[in-house]
Amino acid sequence: MDSGGTTPLAERLAEVADRVDAASRLAGRSPEEITTIVVTKFHPVSLISELAALGVRDFGESRHQEAQAKVAELAGTAFGDIGATWHFIGQLQSKKARHVREYADVIHAVDRESLVASLGGVGRPVDVFLQVNLTDDPDRGGARPEDVLSLATRIHSTPGLHLSGLMTVAPLGEEPRRAFETVRELSERLRRDIPDASGLSMGMSGDFEDAIAEGATHLRIGTAITGNRPTVG
Ligand SMILES: *Cc1c(COP(=O)(O)O)cnc(C)c1O
Repeated sequence: MDSGGTTPLAERLAEVADRVDAASRLAGRSPEEITTIVVTKFHPVSLISELAALGVRDFGESRHQEAQAKVAELAGTAFGDIGATWHFIGQLQSKKARHVREYADVIHAVDRESLVASLGGVGRPVDVFLQVNLTDDPDRGGARPEDVLSLATRIHSTPGLHLSGLMTVAPLGEEPRRAFETVRELSERLRRDIPDASGLSMGMSGDFEDAIAEGATHLRIGTAITGNRPTVG
């Protein structure tokens, strides 16, 4: 790369940052209250290094074995000193929870009591988001809206866990803004009980502007920044 040149990756990153700024301004919010997590699942470690060189510090991964291997590989390089934050954004099996906790700084898809029990207790404190499922399909992950407050209370009272707020994935075939509005309302209710749990992890490549309009604090953006994911499996 020439010193004065730019790469497609740098251009996409800058373009998303501009869109985040514009959507924030439109919503009367400050872009500084929004963290953009770059989702690097299925991509090689070299892409993570390139993103780090462009100033990215928040990385999202969704599969335990892949994430664990990447974190281990990068720990031995200059990347180990940049103070990166690893976000585990995928569905998590209870039996893998303790392992994920060893390298993840933030876990985004906590959705049931058994997982809270597996994550809690020992170890350095970890930030967690409670995932809300807005569909009728339990396979999509997430707690039902009516179970959110009791599960949140459970997380809040579990040593070793810090409840950052709520997380969701907008259902397919529905207006994303409506889904995000539902979660924002749930978040307002939750904050009456647990004021500190004010985070909202929502918004992906196709819908992050709607998420910003409804108060998202953490965007999980993959393809709009990384380009298409390599196909796997
Ligand atoms: C893959 C993934 C994303 C990023 O999706 P894009 O559409 O590529 O931005 C966000 N959140 C979760 C939970 C994901 O699994």
